[in-house]
Amino acid sequence: MDALPYDASPALPTPRAPRALATEAVHAGRDDLAALGLHAVPIDLSTTYPSHDARAEAERIDAFATTGARPDGPPVYSRLDNPTTARFEDALARLEGTQSAVAFASGMAALTAVLLVRASMGLRHVVAVRPLYGCSDHLLTAGLLGTEVTWTDVAGIADAIRPDTGLVMVETPANPTLAEVDIRAVAHACGSVPLLVDSTFATPVLQRPVEHGARIVLHSATKYLGGHGDVLAGVVACDEEFAGKLRQVRFATGGVLHPLASYLLLRGLSTLPVRMRAASTSAAELACRLAADPRIARVHYPEIGGAMVAFEVFGNPHDVIAGVRLITPAVSLGSVDTLIQHPASISHRIVEEGDRRSAGISDRLLRMSVGLEDVEDLWRDLTEALSAGPAPTAREGRTAAAGGAREGRPAAR
Ligand SMILES: *Cc1c(COP(=O)(O)O)cnc(C)c1O
Repeated sequence: MDALPYDASPALPTPRAPRALATEAVHAGRDDLAALGLHAVPIDLSTTYPSHDARAEAERIDAFATTGARPDGPPVYSRLDNPTTARFEDALARLEGTQSAVAFASGMAALTAVLLVRASMGLRHVVAVRPLYGCSDHLLTAGLLGTEVTWTDVAGIADAIRPDTGLVMVETPANPTLAEVDIRAVAHACGSVPLLVDSTFATPVLQRPVEHGARIVLHSATKYLGGHGDVLAGVVACDEEFAGKLRQVRFATGGVLHPLASYLLLRGLSTLPVRMRAASTSAAELACRLAADPRIARVHYPEIGGAMVAFEVFGNPHDVIAGVRLITPAVSLGSVDTLIQHPASISHRIVEEGDRRSAGISDRLLRMSVGLEDVEDLWRDLTEALSAGPAPTAREGRTAAAGGAREGRPAAR
């Protein structure tokens, strides 16, 4: 058989009828495989694509420079486009209900491209709501890309918008406090300024921000979309007009996703709904047990559910990190195994202390990403780790609980 596994046409077949999310997770971006005589997704590792017709190539390059649309046929050079990555992008767009999606080497590369697109239009001002993922906060606060940020709460968004505001950014549920915002209300406050929702913690299984008025959805695909802790990636789901600009920035700045990573992401997407359901069930159960535990000052668990739980301890959070045996003490999230970390030390270390505190990230906060282990095994490990350090006195416990459980004695050494 001389058919190429490479699909030269950017438009994959459209399914006959609308399909449920679980079906899209398995089939989107892969609808043409049977016709190609393939079952597994082909991986195209070419960096360049030969052509004897340089005039035709020039035309395709000109077309890309005009619209940023994916080129018809082979992509000239793999910084411009890649067929395996395109399959992941098509799949994610279908899951998010957007026209397009553009994948990057990491979540931070994806956010960088969004900011550069807007800044290149002279719209350098960003309005953002804390908390955000630590590095996103840092990228905006430090103005590394020549942007300027105004931090506000949801009620202050409309007033914070200026003529040069290019973007409003929120994260919901937010990293690491799991604070939620009403996307529809925020989108309304944004007026004509595009709203970016970092939906990494929710995934399209729990929330589809464009259905509530967001224009841009960002994922650190490193987390739930990949789902196994073995691929670093980012993706932006949006309309095709914005996607074209993102592709042009990606081409010029080079933050492309490797096709092997795209393959792993497609594999991860297949089980995303099943993983999210299973892990969320365990997370909700653990959140319940933690809320009833006298060693815990406060539990954060999102109303929309999910597999993340955050909690504040009366004791020393470092003792919990040191005490886990089954649970992995590591930053990141969304893998099949349960991970726990101390945001003030790790994920949000780069955020200045005062900003961290005002965003509700206390030194006693621990963030746990619940995986697919048996919930009783997880609870046993957690409860043993919570007992690992010196026990707080009963008096300390009562005082902190009565005071709204926000502040206790300084815990982090
Ligand atoms: C991890 C994370 C990011 C950054 O993604 P990387 O893939 O690590 O670059 C952005 N936003 C959220 C909410 C995250 O958790």
